Amino acid sequence: MSKRDYYEVLGVNRDAGDDEIKKAYRKLAMKYHPDRNPDNKDAEEKFKEAKEAYEILSDEQKKAAYDRYGHAGVDPSMGAGPGGAGFEGFSDAFGGIFDEIFGGGRGGGRSNVYRGADLRYNLEISLEEAARGAEKTIRIPTVEECETCHGSGAKPGTQPKTCPTCGGAGQVRIQQGFFSIQQTCPKCHGSGRIIPDPCTACHGAGRVKKQKTLEVKIPAGIDEGMRLRHAGHGEPGVNGGPPGDLYVEIHIRRHPVFERDHDDLHCEMPISFTTAALGGEIEIPTLDGVARLKIPAETQTGKVFRLRGKGIKNVRSHTHGDLLCHVLIETPVDLTERQRDLLREFEELSRSDADRHNPKAKSWMDKVREFFTP
Ligand SMILES: [Zn+2]
Ligand SMILES: [Zn+2]
Repeated sequence: MSKRDYYEVLGVNRDAGDDEIKKAYRKLAMKYHPDRNPDNKDAEEKFKEAKEAYEILSDEQKKAAYDRYGHAGVDPSMGAGPGGAGFEGFSDAFGGIFDEIFGGGRGGGRSNVYRGADLRYNLEISLEEAARGAEKTIRIPTVEECETCHGSGAKPGTQPKTCPTCGGAGQVRIQQGFFSIQQTCPKCHGSGRIIPDPCTACHGAGRVKKQKTLEVKIPAGIDEGMRLRHAGHGEPGVNGGPPGDLYVEIHIRRHPVFERDHDDLHCEMPISFTTAALGGEIEIPTLDGVARLKIPAETQTGKVFRLRGKGIKNVRSHTHGDLLCHVLIETPVDLTERQRDLLREFEELSRSDADRHNPKAKSWMDKVREFFTP
């Protein structure tokens, strides 16, 4: 499962300070806290996502690793993802990473090449955009060489130094019983060098995260939760490894009139009780404008009219769904005295033959009577 960019999760810019990050996290945590959203899976996911993003971005070291290497730099499980060739976990990745920063090979650390992590971007669109297709410009993270230190990671005017723990070898020997084991130096992670004065702009990473824009073509008929893959627009690879992919996940905003069910659309259609009784023609909205619909006399509430082909064009088969209009008969309100008089007169006229005019009420009453008579 690909992850969203942590900055995007918290809704902050790449240069956001600690306070801003904390504030953004608090806001999300309050909104999506499980106590406030019982049995809401979506809120629970969002809460977990925000918590994870905050745990990384509030920790200076983890944030620096994330800024530099993306999800792969802070999550050892990322290496197991598709295409994570040559990446055998966090410490190994760091051996390779530091080689790259300091020119490679010096301390005997191995040069690991691995693919960048896949990224997920949640894109919210309107139902009309989903039905007709659209083009959207989104901002996604990218990594560039740090302008301040020109990629060295050291504060301008300072230099990386030979690691005092391993003397620049990148490996240390430790004695374990009879055996002497060679290990990657824990101080310099195998690079043989350390940065005593890290660049403040990139925290010693040598690269900084920026944003770039990307045009996303949304095909007509796309549905909630579908993903559009943009190869190579995920996080950058390390040591010349290929970048990951970007998955744009589509989320469709609630529409004020229509509810979507796959390729069909549903809408509620309030009609007056006189139209329902006498019949008539009404205007109904569709995604391609207004359509006229004949309401037959004696239409009951709950009746569904199906307008063939007025739904959504399937994104794959290009066949059209239907529009289903659910009749809702409205009881008139705010009546004048004259209107009330007419209704009373109507009631008088109907009373003598009520069963014939209200067949449903009659059958319901019959059932009720049956229920109470043993
Ligand atoms: Zn820098
Ligand atoms: Zn060392």
